[in-house]
Amino acid sequence: CGFAALIGRPNVGKSTLMNHLLKQKISITSRKPQTTRHRIVGINTTEAGQIVYLDTPGMHNSDKRALNRYLNRTADTTLLGVDVVVWLIDGLAFQDYDEVIFKKLEQAGLPVILAVNKVDRIKDKEQILAFFAEAQHRFPFKHLVPISALKNTNLEDLETAIFELLPEGGLIYP
Ligand code: GDP
Repeated sequence: CGFAALIGRPNVGKSTLMNHLLKQKISITSRKPQTTRHRIVGINTTEAGQIVYLDTPGMHNSDKRALNRYLNRTADTTLLGVDVVVWLIDGLAFQDYDEVIFKKLEQAGLPVILAVNKVDRIKDKEQILAFFAEAQHRFPFKHLVPISALKNTNLEDLETAIFELLPEGGLIYP
């Protein structure tokens, strides 16, 4: 069990993904020290363990320069206390500030799952495979999981990948 940060630019599908992932929605009134930098967006308790999903405010800026400024200011603290980062990108097209986020994630040295969303929109199989190859080349993280948050496709694979990267142990929020 542990903390997963869900990051990605606006409109990439973060809320849609959370809505489908969360089996148990909760609201937190008291904060644990590890989470003071983050907003808890949901907690998923399953038989396999517990994932606490965090939002890292500011990480989703769509303005490249503002994002750069934000990340430079807070690079050391933004992801403190996080066990795994789920980075959502759009399977239809790369964005030029993807590169900015990639560099910061590399610096942070945390395990990252690259979740390629909206694959339901790509009809051509060759095109999908080419995109995955390019994504793996640009952002060589160990885990790449294609998903469709809207159609609920492959979300179990994503959860499995998250659990693999979380520390073992009991529940954080009983
Ligand atoms: P957020 O800003 O990152 O939280 O993005 P949202 O979850 O609000 O999604 C933005 C838009 O993309 C909405 O219109 C969603 O319906 C759409 N969307 C999200 N995930 C998918 C997906 O997997 N496939 C398709 N086709 N659309 C999606």
